[in-house]
Order: sequence, then structure tokens, then C-alpha cells
Amino acid sequence: MIELLPVWLGIGCFAIAFVAASLVEYWVHRLMHKPLRLGERHRDHHRRNEAQGVVWEFLDYIKSTIVLLVPMFFVSLPAGIGWSLGAVVYAAFSSYAHQLQHENPTKCFWMKMPVHYVHHKYNMWHHNFGLGVDWWDHVFGTYKLVEWLTDEEQTQVRDSYLELKWW
Ligand SMILES: [Zn+2]
Ligand SMILES: [Zn+2]
Repeated sequence: MIELLPVWLGIGCFAIAFVAASLVEYWVHRLMHKPLRLGERHRDHHRRNEAQGVVWEFLDYIKSTIVLLVPMFFVSLPAGIGWSLGAVVYAAFSSYAHQLQHENPTKCFWMKMPVHYVHHKYNMWHHNFGLGVDWWDHVFGTYKLVEWLTDEEQTQVRDSYLELKWW
């Protein structure tokens, strides 16, 4: 029983970090749409409307958040491992989701509407800030359901989930 505790602590930290990472992502993206320096590179991303590749995106997420991973190791090793894994797994998932929505959005089966795809398609400045998930747009009232599955998307469908720009 006693030995099980660290495992559950690790799993709990994993789950919290996974959800927390999606919240951070939502707010960082939302703030990029405010007139701050933070937004310059993002405005360029909107202009070009193409993603840099799964691996580069992932490294960007990790580079900018790595300091948030360290403190949990001072709580305990299982807490640190669980917390870091939760954040890293979310970053990997989200980099993939980002690339998929740029290249092959109809394959994004876990969302009713691929939020990031429509965020770009309609150059939205106030809505749909989620990347990997749409939870926080619902929570904070920025979710905007729009018609998006037109002939244009249907003809672009590729069958493979893996045929993407990886780097
Ligand atoms: Zn944006
Ligand atoms: Zn994008």
C-alpha cells in the first residue's frame, strides 16, 4: 500500500500537468493576439499559414516551458517525473495536432471542428485559440462554431495520419 502511493502521485501529477499544459497553451496563444511583442512571430505565422513541422514545434514548446518542469522534482522524484511526462506528452500531442490541422484538418477526429484550422482559415483574432483541444475555448467563451467542411477541405483529404511535415 505504502509503495503504491508514489505511483499514484506520479499518475496524478501526469494528469494535472497534461491539463495545465493545454491551459497554458490556450492563454499564451490568446495573448499572442494582443498588441504585444510576443505576437510578432505569431502574426507572421498567420500571414504564411503554414506550420514549421512537428519536431520544431515540439522543441519550441519545450524550450519555452522547461523551467516549469523542474520545481516538481523538489517535491519528489515520482511527482517530478509524472509532471514532466504529462507536459512533454501534451507538447508532443499538440505539436502533432497543430501540424495535422494545417495540412490535413479533416483527420482531426477528436474535435467536432478543428479549432486551429478555422482559426487560420478565417483569420480569427478573438476566437478559437485552442491547438490540441477545444476545452478552454468553451470554458472561456471564445469558442465559435463555423461552417468549415466545404469542397475545398474534402478534396484535400489525405488518408494517412502520418503523412505530414515532421521537421
Ligand atoms: Zn493565432
Ligand atoms: Zn497554426
